[in-house]
Amino acid sequence: MAKFVYDFTEGNRDLKDLLGGKGANLAEMTNLGLPVPPGFTITSEACRHYLAEGSVPEGLEQEIADHLSALESAMGKKLGQADDPLLVSVRSGAKFSMPGMMETVLNIGLNDESVHGLAKQAGGNDRFAWDSYRRLIQMFGKTVQDIDGDLFEHALEELKQDRQDTDLTARELQGLVETYKGIVREQTGKDFPADPGEQLRLAVKAVFDSWNAPRAILYRRQERIPADLGTAVNIVAMVFGNLGDDSGTGVAFTRDPGSGRQGIYGDYLQNAQGEDVVAGIRNTVPLQDLERIDKTSYDELLSIMETLETHYRDLCDIEFTIERGKLWMLQTRVGKRTAAAAFRIAVQLVDQGLITLDEAVTRVSGDQLAQLMFPRFGKDGDREKITKGMNASPGAAVGKAVFTSERAVELAEQGEDVILVRRETNPDDLSGMIAARGVLTSRGGKTSHAAVVARGMGKTCVCGAEELEVSASERRFTAPGGIEVREGEVISIDGSTGEVFLGEVPVVDSAVVEYFEGAEPDDDLVRAVDRIMSHADSVRRLGVRANADNPEDAARARRFGGQGIGLCRTEHMFLGERRQLVEDLVLARSSKEGRQKALDALEPLQKSDFIGIFQAMEGLPVTIRLIDPPLHEFLPDLVALSVKAATGEATDKDRALLAAVKGLHEENPMLGLRGVRLGLVIPGLFAMQVRAIAEAAREVPGARPEIMIPLVAAVQELEAVREEAVKILQEAGVEALVGTMIETPRAALTAGQVAEAAEFFSFGTNDLTQMTWGFSRDDVEAAFFSRYLELGIFGVSPFETLDRDGVGRLVRLAVEEGRATRPGIKLGICGEHGGDPDSVHFCHEAGLDYVSCSPFRIPVARLEAGRAVLTQDDSDTR
Ligand code: PEP
Ligand code: MG
Repeated sequence: MAKFVYDFTEGNRDLKDLLGGKGANLAEMTNLGLPVPPGFTITSEACRHYLAEGSVPEGLEQEIADHLSALESAMGKKLGQADDPLLVSVRSGAKFSMPGMMETVLNIGLNDESVHGLAKQAGGNDRFAWDSYRRLIQMFGKTVQDIDGDLFEHALEELKQDRQDTDLTARELQGLVETYKGIVREQTGKDFPADPGEQLRLAVKAVFDSWNAPRAILYRRQERIPADLGTAVNIVAMVFGNLGDDSGTGVAFTRDPGSGRQGIYGDYLQNAQGEDVVAGIRNTVPLQDLERIDKTSYDELLSIMETLETHYRDLCDIEFTIERGKLWMLQTRVGKRTAAAAFRIAVQLVDQGLITLDEAVTRVSGDQLAQLMFPRFGKDGDREKITKGMNASPGAAVGKAVFTSERAVELAEQGEDVILVRRETNPDDLSGMIAARGVLTSRGGKTSHAAVVARGMGKTCVCGAEELEVSASERRFTAPGGIEVREGEVISIDGSTGEVFLGEVPVVDSAVVEYFEGAEPDDDLVRAVDRIMSHADSVRRLGVRANADNPEDAARARRFGGQGIGLCRTEHMFLGERRQLVEDLVLARSSKEGRQKALDALEPLQKSDFIGIFQAMEGLPVTIRLIDPPLHEFLPDLVALSVKAATGEATDKDRALLAAVKGLHEENPMLGLRGVRLGLVIPGLFAMQVRAIAEAAREVPGARPEIMIPLVAAVQELEAVREEAVKILQEAGVEALVGTMIETPRAALTAGQVAEAAEFFSFGTNDLTQMTWGFSRDDVEAAFFSRYLELGIFGVSPFETLDRDGVGRLVRLAVEEGRATRPGIKLGICGEHGGDPDSVHFCHEAGLDYVSCSPFRIPVARLEAGRAVLTQDDSDTR
């Protein structure tokens, strides 16, 4: 028969699935011989049954009764017995900590009779007994009977007036109990249940139900905790911190969870029960003061903290209570910590011989590393938040608002810090984005142009701040509440939270980035990062490359540990003055000579671009992707041209351009004439690029180009392009792999055929996600993803973290079939997912050879590639 209840002596810390974190750790502490009040745990399996069936599983009530009698014998008292009652607490405890999200009821077992027994037990302390009773009715009423907690709070406040709760007399508290009972009667139509057995039964069910309370559901979604785990319930003999000044309650950490430094951290509150500390009813004192208040308990606590750290081999947090000078442990768990603390603690534990370097790598995460790499807003100073958009590229940026790229460049040249504010950005904004400290857009999601490019540059970006009305022509934006920001006014944007502030919020730089840029590690945090990164590099199997398309990014990629370029987007090289040449190409596209003239003008420019990149990469592989986006992106705006034509200001070229823009207009440009399609439709375009690559490679000794064809859906497309490319390479005497992106579902589904013509695959998971889900990558995040997240349709945007079930399945299929056709085919990924921690783990598991990501994500990818080798079950490291 299934077992639904475990005594604390029966469990251990490995049973978190069944006993929840709290129950498993209480059992562990019990078995370590630490002073834990006796008790037992009802399993999460019982909760799951209850939530699914609407009733507790058969046998559960009997099991609870049996464990309760064992507890009663151990304590020598009976639950709620009139003259000498046993009281218990009923506490939730799920596998993953969900602080404050679920319910707890203390002092179960009190009623009008046993309150006197409790007073007697406490040496005639009536005040304490009535205070405990009123707490029971208050907690029980609120959590079990669903009564508005404010009703109790108001009654208490009214009684207290300006006094502390400890100033209330026994008689006043007795009166308060009557008032509370009245509230219960009024709100539920029934008396407060006096029967201790009924109190216990109802409290257990209320804890089960609290798993599905709205705030718990919300918390789980945010923290990506599965919805179907259920919670365990702990029934623990009450110990009292509110028996007088020789009693109290507190929390403690074995190291500082903020900085990671060793020392004694915590708070203590005399003469109080646990919830008072959290509720901040009275001011706590620093834990150090306990040494003065009760030296024996203090010394014992320090020794227990040492035992726990050594046993758990990690930072622990602790809740404890002192009842008349006797210390009791109520909870411990491996404690949450900041990013900086995580790195420091991991290496401290290695130095103390408690963990290995392998384990240290698993104790930190790429997300934590990323947090350490961005400048941050300091904690000081007032700030006025004006709106919130999407946190597209982390960091903190402060500057004068500007509304055009030209103005951004102009002011930056004068030494001003600027924030480029646009409705959305396009490739023409690149110079402005480079010049700006940060980018703010009112439209577009996390794979919008602004977001992708900003992340690539490591530049702070908030995108899709839809409440803003941005007017570039009027050089201003408006925000809710009648706020208007004009050019030159200072704003601050937080790319880690998406918040936008009026005025200057002070910023702190990242020492970790300075270290990656080549500075000597000169503080303990940077030294910790250095040790962990070196070890991650020594164990990882995945290579890490960069998405970079200029020599500066390429050089940074190398400094950050990139082992090559996995995606050089050549379309980024057709901007600025060169746009003119692309316009000429488009206008002349149907005349052979005109076309050739335009291509001949572009070729030397492309060649010099590639030379710069090959030189920066010094013999590391460079995957160059032939031009991808639709041509109309390079042409002037349709409306602007039409206005010119209508007002008679258009030149002949403008009129020709207008015709071309109209002719090339597409309803769905992302699914239109781009990538390989463009290469096949405009003869000579790809050939020009391949020649430029070959010529550049000849001039840079050791250059290792790899030529990549975008948007292929059928092997026939690839074959046509490949044939021409191979011929050009052979004529030039240059060796280069020719491969393809796998970014259409059809390419993935026919990867076995595609591999006949491809020497490598690079998964373009931005487009592959777009096309697999049928989500327009530029629109959907702002349009409806927040609703989808609310509904739990997905826990995170599939543009951010690779969707293992759908897109991931296509990737695995293509890996398998590609390798079957061409064993040894090189496999990588260059979509945004290449720098996302969970997706890096997927790439490791799927057997890819490398991931490619923006230069600033390289350290994150290196660390996660190491962790992927060392972590068995990531979900447990939360
Ligand atoms: C992709 O689609 O994943 C990719 C890398 O290409 P782009 O983002 O340039 O379309
Ligand atoms: Mg793509």
